[in-house]
Amino acid sequence: MLPRVSLVKYQSDSASLQKALQLCEGFAKLKQTDRVLIKPNLVAWEDRYPIAPFGVYTTTRLVEDLIILLQDFGCRHISIGEGSVQIQKSVGTMQAFEGLGYRELEKRYDVNLLDLNKSKTEKFVFHDDLSLHIAKDAVDCDFLINFPVLKTHGQTKVSLGLKNLKGCLKLQSKKMCHHAKLNLEYCFSHIADFLKPALTIVDGIYALEKGALHFGNAYRKDLIIASTDILGADIVAAKTIGYDSGDIKHFEYYAKRHDRSLLLQDYEILGEKLEDQITPLKWDWTWTADNTGPGIFQKFGITGVALPKYDDSLCSGCSPIANMANILVLSAFKGRPLPKVEILNGKKMQARPGYEKTILLGNCIKKANEANPNIQEAVEVIGCPPSEQDVVTALKSAGLEVNETVYHGYMKEQSRKYDGKAGFEQAFFQA
Ligand code: SF4
Repeated sequence: MLPRVSLVKYQSDSASLQKALQLCEGFAKLKQTDRVLIKPNLVAWEDRYPIAPFGVYTTTRLVEDLIILLQDFGCRHISIGEGSVQIQKSVGTMQAFEGLGYRELEKRYDVNLLDLNKSKTEKFVFHDDLSLHIAKDAVDCDFLINFPVLKTHGQTKVSLGLKNLKGCLKLQSKKMCHHAKLNLEYCFSHIADFLKPALTIVDGIYALEKGALHFGNAYRKDLIIASTDILGADIVAAKTIGYDSGDIKHFEYYAKRHDRSLLLQDYEILGEKLEDQITPLKWDWTWTADNTGPGIFQKFGITGVALPKYDDSLCSGCSPIANMANILVLSAFKGRPLPKVEILNGKKMQARPGYEKTILLGNCIKKANEANPNIQEAVEVIGCPPSEQDVVTALKSAGLEVNETVYHGYMKEQSRKYDGKAGFEQAFFQA
């Protein structure tokens, strides 16, 4: 029998999720006594400039629908676990739970909220001496429900079921996945070898272009994709946003190890016709031809400074400051060439010749360029990740007259960009 994947239109109540689970027989192996863990995608939380939730977070509405269906089935041991990235110090998973209405779910349905960043971990070796430390709460549960969002990703093209499991890793393992020599997608594709989710539900009420955070654009899509087969769910979900399975490296790594097919014809799709549900979404950000900055630099005629494009070694800790550096450099441009400064991030970029100063954002890139003869003067921004204030100070010390209020204004604008737009309802993210 072919693995079943359901593809169902969301119709404003819990009947949609129920139908998706019935079609793929999502609860066929569930027992009433099982300790169930739901793993949504609550990627990160920001207090200062709340992240616009559409296409970024699993909708609280569908998580609540799932809890009701589980309790109707007879399950009484239900937990929700996530290990959100900390963009701000001490602002993480519990703040995401707070902000997205999970405290109300906790009270209303007596479910447990778990910060997987704080869970004990179990070690799984996956490559020579490299290992993944996975939250024991996820390893030890009886029925893991993986609940990602239908989104693209600037490093991995899509971020669906296989990628969502990265939130179950200990922080050091999350960082290690962005290895300077190994491929990011190769590393995280192994998590599903050890966790083996019983069910994957892709929340496609909103779909996100140029994700994984809110700097791209979300679209109302009203789809639910579900399967007991994580690869099947991912292949069908990716296709609905325009990606063939052969385009996605982490699908290939997983399929090869498990001797699985990447062909759609080897999956039974139930519900909507897949060909009627495809809307291609872009994943990538354009960069100048000489790799000196985002496409907008060329449009504005910005020269002198260079911000090479992020690579897959840039981990979520440094990702916000790399984005911030782009905006700050834009703010420094007054129509004249900017100082000859190169700004590097991640774990493997190498300074190029011709720049008077090289700003190294974070401990990793500092180490990677320790012996680089192209560097005339290094401006090291220490930290893992470094602080925003230290980044601003470094840019200023390199002669870039950056204006922080421009950055704050940009972040506020991103935060509110869907306000008043039809179809973008905050109620989906409240209990
Ligand atoms: S310095 Fe930055 S890229 Fe390196 S591990 Fe820390 S957060 Fe990640």
